[in-house]
Amino acid sequence: MKLSALGRIALATGIAVLTTAMLPGTPASAAPVKRKILPVLVEFNDASFQFPDKVKASTPDTYFGAKSDSAASFLSEVSRGQYTVVPAIKEQFLGPIKLDLSAAGCPQGKINQMTRDELAKRGLVAGKDYESLSIVFPAQKTECPWAGLATLPGPTTWINLYGTASGIDVVGHELGHNLGFGHQGRVQCTGGNLGACKEAGASHTSIMAGGYRPAGFSAPEMIRAGWLSGGASVKVTKSGVYTLRSLHGKGSGVRALDIALGGDRLVIEYRHAAGNFDAKLEGVHAYRVPKGSYGSSSLIDTTTANKTAANNAPPNTDAITKLTDKASKLSVAVVSSGGGQAKVKVALNGDSLASLDPTPSKSPTTTPTPSAATPTPSASAATEAMGDSSEPVTETGPEELTAAAEDSSTALPLAAAGGGAALLAVGLAFLFTKRRHRRRH
Ligand SMILES: [Zn+2]
Repeated sequence: MKLSALGRIALATGIAVLTTAMLPGTPASAAPVKRKILPVLVEFNDASFQFPDKVKASTPDTYFGAKSDSAASFLSEVSRGQYTVVPAIKEQFLGPIKLDLSAAGCPQGKINQMTRDELAKRGLVAGKDYESLSIVFPAQKTECPWAGLATLPGPTTWINLYGTASGIDVVGHELGHNLGFGHQGRVQCTGGNLGACKEAGASHTSIMAGGYRPAGFSAPEMIRAGWLSGGASVKVTKSGVYTLRSLHGKGSGVRALDIALGGDRLVIEYRHAAGNFDAKLEGVHAYRVPKGSYGSSSLIDTTTANKTAANNAPPNTDAITKLTDKASKLSVAVVSSGGGQAKVKVALNGDSLASLDPTPSKSPTTTPTPSAATPTPSASAATEAMGDSSEPVTETGPEELTAAAEDSSTALPLAAAGGGAALLAVGLAFLFTKRRHRRRH
């Protein structure tokens, strides 16, 4: 798949060029955030990296390399220059450091504590010299049931490294957890009826689910991160026809509509190929944001066909054409979608969609292509019950493994981590597939 995790031996040529100019329509509300991250290679008293030189060579490249899928490049592009990671120290990473600790039993808490103690001995102060810590260690003896783990939100990521280099699908996903993003689910609201939705696995429109790096983050996550400020996200408070530009990519314009849905929010975005993102994603997509928790959104899927990163379903398979919610007297309909622009009718307070005149907005779209497949009406029980305000612990069940095996790449087990006080999110984007369990603590 997209994961080229193994054997990457690129030399670190320095820090990626991250000086993305401020874009029109993106007011310089704040200086770009450059978060100081410290990757530390760690070994155990009974386990070492098989090829330490290769791991050392790949690490700066994975985090700070000029390549488009380094963590720095990925975050810079997806945030449109508003956020990235920079090296906390001039050597860019530390280690390997030998911990007097056995790898057995995946002692993630001790790995974290002992690594931080070692950093303190070297005079490195958390929060000052480094803001984020990414601990990379050899996987062979840990039996950790994950490839990556992260505090949610928080400053720590763990990379349980099987090969000689980690990839953005893991590192970017874990750093997304650090930003406060949980795993993104999918709810099936067949026919677009928001009063009749059921949980239906994982979204494919974000690296926080099955979308991998080519999807970047979705609109709710971008809102949560503060990257759609300055008019890029519009809170819709009156009925009308709204024009959206693509969520990703340079330029100005409205990238997301944010609409009240009872106590929740409905977020609408338009996806279209832009830069390194969305080559295989097209159309207007919708999300339910529970209780204003933008890091815990679910893709609203109005069809029974599912787009995943592993199948060849058309890019607009899960694009919406129409949504209705009787309880909040809301209707949404896509007027046109394609060629980099979409027009969406939003009818609030029981207004009728038909009363909204889309004609003034007919011409600007260059080549309107019809959006998604026609939704199949049907209703099922269970309104979605989704999570929780602040800091969900998101866990996945072992059944992902079945489908993940199709991916052939690194089939790593992903299982329910123990939990406990620490808020940890187990992450393996590439193991996301059909079914998902979530548990909260
Ligand atoms: Zn995760």
